[in-house]
Amino acid sequence: MQLDRRGLLLILSSPSGAGKSTLTRNLTTEDPGIRLSVSVTTRPRRQSEIEGVHYRFIEKDDFVAMRERGDLLEWAEVHGNFYGTPRKPVEQALTAGQDMMFDIDWQGTKQIVEKLRPDVASVFVLPPSMDELKARLERRAEDAPEAMARRLDNARDEIAQWGGYDYVIVNDDLERAYGQLKAILAAERVRRERQTGLDRFVDGLLGRPAQRFRAS
Ligand code: ADP
Ligand code: 5GP
Repeated sequence: MQLDRRGLLLILSSPSGAGKSTLTRNLTTEDPGIRLSVSVTTRPRRQSEIEGVHYRFIEKDDFVAMRERGDLLEWAEVHGNFYGTPRKPVEQALTAGQDMMFDIDWQGTKQIVEKLRPDVASVFVLPPSMDELKARLERRAEDAPEAMARRLDNARDEIAQWGGYDYVIVNDDLERAYGQLKAILAAERVRRERQTGLDRFVDGLLGRPAQRFRAS
């Protein structure tokens, strides 16, 4: 049974290479109830990336214009490029009771939490070791050598942000990490405050007249 509820904003952050895009992709592919927020970015497209699916790749002028119009829910400069979350799809999802997932950094997470705390569940993904993080970045082999070095340099500062998140997953074994992520989503979906249909349901359960429905 599915009661009415508000949508949930599930945020994943990690240092580059820890595996958050893999986890995000697995979850949004398997679970039709959660959609990925497609960010805009000024960074160059990687070979494996599809415009409008992984990101909307835009020029810096267009990014600045979006930001100035208030079209971005949050934005940040990461590894020398600009990234931002378009505001409208998030607002639409929340009111429609649709869940959304975000692959964004800690700066963006802070901004969304400030604006929409009750709707947010945040997850930080750690690599099992710095050697493995480096090995994953090298195996992915989709960034230029300078970009890869910059990402590794920034990893320590990003890892320092883990304390600001609701959940922390160490992505050693991918299946296990993915299982933990699914468990977080399942639990967050049944949080009492999020289930706006509970008052009505319980009144029905106890045979109370409908006019005694209390909005929460
Ligand atoms: P991020 O989005 O955090 O930068 P990715 O999801 O792109 O990281 O993962 C970086 C690389 O590591 C990819 O090649 C991915 O297939 C691989 N990877 C992800 N999780 C694991 C894991 N648990 N074990 C081994 N390799 C992994
Ligand atoms: P990448 O270039 O590897 O796709 O992403 C680099 C970093 O930018 C990652 O930490 C990713 O989570 C973050 N990022 C991607 N999109 C956004 C966004 O819209 N806002 C913010 N704040 N960070 C983002």
